[in-house]
Amino acid sequence: MAIATHPVRTPKITETGLFIDGRFQPSAGGKTFPTINPATEEVLAEISEGTAEDVDRAVRAARRALQSGPWATMDARDRGSLLLQLADAIQQEREELAVLETLDNGKRLADSRVDVTLCVEALRYYAGYADKIYGKTIPVRGPFFTYTRREPVGVAGQIIPWNFPMVNVVWKWAPALAAGCTVVLKPAEQTPLTALRLARIAKEAGIPDGVVNVVPGGPATGAAIVRHPGVDKIAFTGSCEVGQTIMREAASTLKRVTLELGGKSPNILFADCDLDTAIAQSHNALYWNQGQVCASGSRLFVEDKIYDQVVEKIAERNRKYKVGDPFDPETEQGPQVDRAQFEKVLDYIGLGKHEGAECLTGGGRFGNRGYYVEPTLFANVKDEMVIAREEIFGPVLCALRFSDVEEVIERANNTTFGLAAAVWTRDITKAHRLANRIKAGTVWINCYYGVDLAAPFGGYRMSGLGRELGEEGILGYTELKTVAVKLA
Ligand code: NAD
Repeated sequence: MAIATHPVRTPKITETGLFIDGRFQPSAGGKTFPTINPATEEVLAEISEGTAEDVDRAVRAARRALQSGPWATMDARDRGSLLLQLADAIQQEREELAVLETLDNGKRLADSRVDVTLCVEALRYYAGYADKIYGKTIPVRGPFFTYTRREPVGVAGQIIPWNFPMVNVVWKWAPALAAGCTVVLKPAEQTPLTALRLARIAKEAGIPDGVVNVVPGGPATGAAIVRHPGVDKIAFTGSCEVGQTIMREAASTLKRVTLELGGKSPNILFADCDLDTAIAQSHNALYWNQGQVCASGSRLFVEDKIYDQVVEKIAERNRKYKVGDPFDPETEQGPQVDRAQFEKVLDYIGLGKHEGAECLTGGGRFGNRGYYVEPTLFANVKDEMVIAREEIFGPVLCALRFSDVEEVIERANNTTFGLAAAVWTRDITKAHRLANRIKAGTVWINCYYGVDLAAPFGGYRMSGLGRELGEEGILGYTELKTVAVKLA
């Protein structure tokens, strides 16, 4: 079936070079790579691909901006003001940014608009933090005045994925800049457009040259950032495998590393929950953003008594779910981000069928153009099946049956991940018992995706290292220094 393409104002794609030291420029070797519209499979633009030489230039620019020039001596409060200016400038270009994001990533235009708001809010939140990074005075033994200072960690290398391209840029920039760092950011090769547009907006908003640098490219570009001795910290969001590689590579220079990685988060429905809300949100917990969310509720544990009812209602929703052009306001699910992800998701679906899970809805490609996958629901999934253990990162939900509290705690924790979890129950004691016992960086009770800028977010175990957002997010861009003054 062919998918109609909604007529849309196409923004002119003008930022295609590397953004280094405040200006766009071609890569050292002149090499480019295409970025593709996943809804149509057409090339949107050719983007300069950063080489190790380009990364070196970007790191040197970031270092210069850190040590000399206006950024180095700027009052924290003035840095905060600049972040507020950047927030306003982004707000001004809201619609262009949202359209670019949808073209490049395939997410619904409505979701891209929300993402712009998330960017603006993150800048405003961290702008207020810039002059509130405190040290402590320490009551040591002897005649000393001893205190700590939090200093910017230095040049931050930021490597991000494609599922929330623009949000990932700003959620990395905002705490880093508020803390006084400078950055070299590499967007995902699938979705470089909004990062480059944001670089231009940052310059126009008055962020000094060299403070933010954007070097697009693939794994080799990312690896060059990780290896560079002039980078003090790596902030990475992406897959566990690449996270492990980065941690290994960073060991040679002992860079600071924060990792936001994948998950296979349990979403647990007890029979005493508010069922209608739980079903609606559990559906959204997996199918929102085409299932491409690190914290998606991909293991749906449902208590015996309500299992058949829940599974049928989710299947019913899937049958009506509108897959199609992400610019169409009626659309509920757009395409997967690229061919590789599309094929990976279809492979997992094939594997699930082969493993003997019951495929209740979907199970294949949707349409014949664009990387669309049918909303797929597997019932009677067993814990040991690959589809219940590995992150699929697509619109594929696994429903599992349980009958007992202790049983579900043990099964929910029986994973190498630990990013998020949700519990649905009206029993407050049970809710807290699970919140305490589940090994995950975030546990939501009677809600899903209760993410807030002020609350730390990150993973237990193989879902990551360190935390982003909130106070922890900005402290991760600081080094702690102790100063001891002898008083006698
Ligand atoms: P990925 O790990 O393949 O790529 C992420 C980024 O790393 C890209 O920019 C890529 O070019 C770069 N990269 C790849 N190899 C590299 C290397 N050797 N050295 C340095 N950089 C390298 O991940 P992906 O497929 O783009 O994204 C999906 C993954 O991201 C999922 O596992 C998802 O769960 C995770 N994710 C996690 C969070 C979170 O906050 N925990 C948020 C979004 C996505």
